[in-house]
Amino acid sequence: MQIVAETGRKRALAGMTLAELRALARELREAEYRGGQIADWVYRRCVNSIEEMTNLPSAFRERLAEECTVGLPEVAATQRSKDGTIKLLLRMADGNTVESVYLPYEDRISCCISSQVGCPVRCAFCATGLSGYARNLTPGEVVGQVLRMQQTARTGTPAGEESPRISHVVFMGMGEPLFNYDTTMKSLGLLNREVGLAMRRMTVSTVGFVPGIRRLTVDQPQITLAISLHAPNDVLRKRLIPTMHQWGVAEIMDACREYVAATNRRVTFEYCLLDGVNDGTAEAEELAALLQGLLCHVNLIPYNAVGGTGFRAPSAQRVKDFYGVLSQAGLRVTQRVQRGADVDAACGQLRRAEQTAATGG
Ligand code: SF4
Repeated sequence: MQIVAETGRKRALAGMTLAELRALARELREAEYRGGQIADWVYRRCVNSIEEMTNLPSAFRERLAEECTVGLPEVAATQRSKDGTIKLLLRMADGNTVESVYLPYEDRISCCISSQVGCPVRCAFCATGLSGYARNLTPGEVVGQVLRMQQTARTGTPAGEESPRISHVVFMGMGEPLFNYDTTMKSLGLLNREVGLAMRRMTVSTVGFVPGIRRLTVDQPQITLAISLHAPNDVLRKRLIPTMHQWGVAEIMDACREYVAATNRRVTFEYCLLDGVNDGTAEAEELAALLQGLLCHVNLIPYNAVGGTGFRAPSAQRVKDFYGVLSQAGLRVTQRVQRGADVDAACGQLRRAEQTAATGG
């Protein structure tokens, strides 16, 4: 078996499946079960170095360290909000950075992770879209974000207390996860089997890439599907998400109906409210009509203004009115509670600030 995922010259352990870790142990002339011990250190104890894997014989640790590294991304910047939200800018081995967010709630701990460096979709209102696209992330880089955040949670835990465990993961950071399909699938498998997260507690959010939605429905029916719709018709969607006009609203809805029929699971529609653009009563009525009869839930996200996009945050009254139209139509609707309001909360802002500083822009 060829073991991929390299960090510089050394191979990264984060991102390898249990079978790959067992094969690695064999390759390094050790018993296969050592692969299981390495998985435990990497995925459940979230260590930084091979040196910390104290139940491995020291000679094996040395051989392993010559060939491999744990391979977690480095923390390039941290922003902590008063509400407990922690935003990390994480640097990959090649110097590229992505953002990840740790979100503690009363009943769960969620984290929002990136699937690509930047994003090729380039939504007109998004800071990530403005900062350009570099490349896909590897499975190790995706899972590494969760492991780094788990470490971050541990740092704040008083001695003697058990550190809180991340219970939910959303692929809603930088990038379109269904454009990086194989990595997303392998990462879900690792998070489920090695890290121990239930599939149902993981959400893949897509901007409406229909072929990817159809594949996901077959390959991972346990996953929660979220669609970043943002507009109830093609004209408005083309303005907000110009690169995705190949898949119209009607086709996206067909793919969602197929997902519900196959999984009997509720689809979440994310709708970012932009002042005077898509937040009027007419759009709310059109959205309500579009979603009528579908097993779904609408999550309204009042826009967090990003400099350079030209879009503004909606007033509280407009958000309330939009919400009212949807709920009166019988739809399940929530308004996203703004987390991390005292830090650069919108996705991509931290990375963009770093890029601007680096280029003196
Ligand atoms: S909103 Fe999402 S899909 Fe759109 S550019 Fe930003 S990261 Fe990409």
